Amino acid sequence: MKITIVGAGAMGSLFGGLLAEAGNKVLLLDIWEEHIDAINSKGLWIEGLSGDRFIKIKAISKPADINVSSDLFIIFVKSYQTESVAKNISSLVAARSTILTLQNGLGNFEILCHILGSEKVIAGTTSYGATMLGPGKVRHAGVGPTAIGELDGKITHRIEKISQLLNQAGIKTETTKNVIGLIWSKLLVNVGINALGVLLRVKNGELILGEYAPKLQAALVEEAIKVAQGKEIELIYQDMVKEVALICEKTKDNLNSMLQDVRKKRRTEIDFINGAIVREGRKLNIPTPVNKVITDLIKAIEESYEKQI
Ligand code: NAD
Repeated sequence: MKITIVGAGAMGSLFGGLLAEAGNKVLLLDIWEEHIDAINSKGLWIEGLSGDRFIKIKAISKPADINVSSDLFIIFVKSYQTESVAKNISSLVAARSTILTLQNGLGNFEILCHILGSEKVIAGTTSYGATMLGPGKVRHAGVGPTAIGELDGKITHRIEKISQLLNQAGIKTETTKNVIGLIWSKLLVNVGINALGVLLRVKNGELILGEYAPKLQAALVEEAIKVAQGKEIELIYQDMVKEVALICEKTKDNLNSMLQDVRKKRRTEIDFINGAIVREGRKLNIPTPVNKVITDLIKAIEESYEKQI
């Protein structure tokens, strides 16, 4: 199968590398020239949980350099870049191509459907984790389940084929009839952990200790549950507040991805996480005051990167 990874940062490089090792024709597409040059000259270095090695893989920096369309495009840019990459690749996506998003946050598959055609888009979530170490170098930092599904819940031949492809590459993947519920459930985990971790500057485990952090976490998740209920989303856990706290316990030494972004003074995915809850709540007249304040605080932090003391 011909696969193009759109956004070959931490996760894109990891998935691309593993799929290439399994014998697929994989192309990495990323605008980061230094990274692309390093991969093309020395190979992609993956270290960590799946072993330390160089992988031979082709990388390009411009969509125009793609001369044959791919069977599968996997989108791994940050959520705020989804719209622009969808436009960039639109002329390269063939009628038979499938577009898979495994990004975090809410709004990605909707943008891809709008720009590239809903019949081509499938979605999912992954508990794999990766960190960029530098140009051409990535650390495989986490393993866990991956699930993919059609947006209408049907288990189709293509979903089974792509799931098989990921499994053959060692990425343990299941198909799901409730991918929207899965995306929302992961969203609620990020809603309860990411921004709060940034504001407190702490690892996940600290968010469930003390008096105030757990209360704030519960308030964020409870608002998001109400929005999910308003949209008739079938969440995969009965008690999401408890589940988020459990995940904090299990990942107690992790620095969440938003905290990593803020430490590097990078733009965050806040608009697609807590900000998305505020937007969806507004449409349904469901108040989300805690998520609104938290979203604005993160946006204020982003705005003041250059002035921070
Ligand atoms: P990242 O910042 O490491 O990678 C994103 C890449 O996209 C960068 O290399 C960037 O240069 C590239 N890019 C930006 N604009 C582009 C464009 N126009 N065309 C092509 N490439 C472009 O991010 P990441 O950590 O790999 O995360 C990607 C997505 O996966 C996010 O939604 C994130 O929340 C999600 N995710 C990350 C992890 C993780 O452990 N890192 C785990 C699960 C999900």
